[in-house]
Formats: sequence, structure tokens, C-alpha cells
Amino acid sequence: MKITTNKPTLIPKMYCNLFGHDYVISKKVTFHVKEYTCKHCKKQLTTNSNGNLIELTPKFKEINAILEHVYNSRRERSKKKIALSSIC
Ligand SMILES: [Zn+2]
Repeated sequence: MKITTNKPTLIPKMYCNLFGHDYVISKKVTFHVKEYTCKHCKKQLTTNSNGNLIELTPKFKEINAILEHVYNSRRERSKKKIALSSIC
């Protein structure tokens, strides 16, 4: 017999159906793109290129990971530039 110890509770989803999702920023991908997670049911959203909120699918997670990488490396580069120009 199978015993499920950690079966998901239905209450958070019911709460969201009644009161709507309560999203908090879970990750800042770039200056414009952020990931949001619902405090109650853990549903995730992200900002797409048009600035609209969409469901965070595995595909968008991948895109965001790439965006984050590009954004961070660009930021690093501009930091170095600033450091160099302040020396010269
Ligand atoms: Zn929710």
C-alpha cells in the first residue's frame, strides 16, 4: 500500500480562487524582467518582452536564465569600464 505523507493541501488554491493570487517578487532577472511567486499556491509568473505578466513555464525559465546571464555579464563589463575611466 502506498502512503502519501506530503500530499498538497487544497486550502492555498481555494484561497487564491476566492481572493486572487498574492504575488511577491521571487527573482529579479533584469531591470525590466522579474519573476513572481504567489505566496499561497506558489504559482509563478514572469514579465515577458512586452512587459506583460505571463505564466512562468519551463521555457520562460530557460529564457530568463539566459537573460539573467547576459544582463549580469553586461553589468560586469560596464562596471569595469567605469572603473577604468575613473583611473584614466
Ligand atoms: Zn495563488
